[in-house]
Amino acid sequence: MAKIKIIEIFDSIEGEGSLVGYPVSFIRLEGCNLRCSWCDTKYSYDTENYKLMDINEILKVIKFFKNKKVCLTGGEPLYNEGFDLLFKTLLEEGYFVIIETNGTLFRNIISVLYKRYNKNIHIVCSPKPFNNFYINDKLLPYIKELKFVVDNLLKIEDILKFKDIHLNDIPIILQPEDNKKEMFKKSRDLQKKLLEKNIEVRIIPQYHKIFEVK
Ligand code: SF4
Repeated sequence: MAKIKIIEIFDSIEGEGSLVGYPVSFIRLEGCNLRCSWCDTKYSYDTENYKLMDINEILKVIKFFKNKKVCLTGGEPLYNEGFDLLFKTLLEEGYFVIIETNGTLFRNIISVLYKRYNKNIHIVCSPKPFNNFYINDKLLPYIKELKFVVDNLLKIEDILKFKDIHLNDIPIILQPEDNKKEMFKKSRDLQKKLLEKNIEVRIIPQYHKIFEVK
């Protein structure tokens, strides 16, 4: 049976974005195609420190946790060769599947399964400044939430470039980098300026860092 490179599987709460506070099982897949300077999960790539697990072993852990929602994260989950099997199996098992992606990649399995499982698929895209906030065209129609980390680099134009595509249909989240106060102030300023352009966004900190949970 095929083995999937897994960094860790753990039981926690959603700490970011519009689903914050829900109980969620996290599966952190190995590998990423980017190397962002402020990445807080550098241990998920350039490492031999992963477990090789087959789908039954993974499911056993997920079922033990009892959570209805499972988050596929990384690294970049769409970069991992085991993604298709994992995604399909979790949906078939009835889980609500959250995908945390940097938005640069696409896998056909998403379009194949979307019609049947649309309500149980929640793709959160967090485009990165290090590649000019690029989002893969094929992924765009499936994104259910756009999340911007507010750091020194983020400019209002980086958000507005998605204006004609999506911004009024899905939640837009501003996440102050590492819950820094000065980044909250910058987020608030961006929020007001976006509202002047009739775009309403939410500012949500990283909840798990406030309460120091994994
Ligand atoms: S895309 Fe995400 S996981 Fe990959 S380097 Fe950037 S922040 Fe880290």
